Amino acid sequence: EIPRMDLNAMEENHRQKNRTCFILGASGETGKALLKEIVERNIFSKITLIGRRQLTFEDKTYENLVQKVVDFEKLDEYAEAFQGHDVGYCCLGTTKAKAGAEGFVRVDHDYVLKSAELAKAGGCSHFHLESSKGADKTSSFLYLKTKGQVEAEIEDLGFERFSIYRPAVLLVAREESRPAEWVAQKFLGAFSSVFPTMSISITAVARAMVINTLKDGGKKVEILENKAICNLGKIGDKK
Ligand code: NDP
Repeated sequence: EIPRMDLNAMEENHRQKNRTCFILGASGETGKALLKEIVERNIFSKITLIGRRQLTFEDKTYENLVQKVVDFEKLDEYAEAFQGHDVGYCCLGTTKAKAGAEGFVRVDHDYVLKSAELAKAGGCSHFHLESSKGADKTSSFLYLKTKGQVEAEIEDLGFERFSIYRPAVLLVAREESRPAEWVAQKFLGAFSSVFPTMSISITAVARAMVINTLKDGGKKVEILENKAICNLGKIGDKK
């Protein structure tokens, strides 16, 4: 348990270190929430967004962001974008419905692994991966298997610190329509206090990632299951 006062001290302590970070997937639902937390808490001296397109922000607090637009099919040519970041966050992902089975593996495995490799080569010491509840490289479900495989392969890269987040169904008001997700959310949202292991708000995921960044001396490789993410996310709650 981290009391609020200690959290302020941890933020200040982190600020003093002048660390830099990059975010993959900052245009996505979790990524957006993560970016907001990071910007508001002002804990990095430089924030770089790496993505397939340039993003626009109205808010003035976002004006110092650095953006690198890359072609994920030729990531090796963009190695420079991944150089010199202390911390990396990956909230990248697609679905089989959107990209097909092959496209899904390409994004959730190939792009993610290659990014992690380039980040490691570029000096990144702490890599955060948003994976999924049930991730398991031996699973017969493509989704869970892919998530488990990429976790294991990134672990093999030997980051100084590697944090894996395995959230359950994300509760989010998504711009894009995903009917199955909507139904699941309506149900799980209504019963989230009864089934705390089945869903989680994206804000809690984002906060957990940030609070975990501030914690020094964490384990080399750690897996945060949904419950652990919820608990950490609560600490970061400003209210
Ligand atoms: P979103 O679907 O909201 O965002 C996905 C991000 O990935 C966007 O930034 C998007 O960029 C980028 N992306 C997608 N396809 C490509 C591509 N072909 N090339 C380059 N970039 C691409 O993500 P969520 O926040 O919903 O999910 C984040 C992660 O959490 C995913 O890995 C997901 O599998 C996992 N997860 C999700 C759960 C859920 O309930 N939804 C539950 C547990 C885990 P752009 O804006 O340019 O499209």
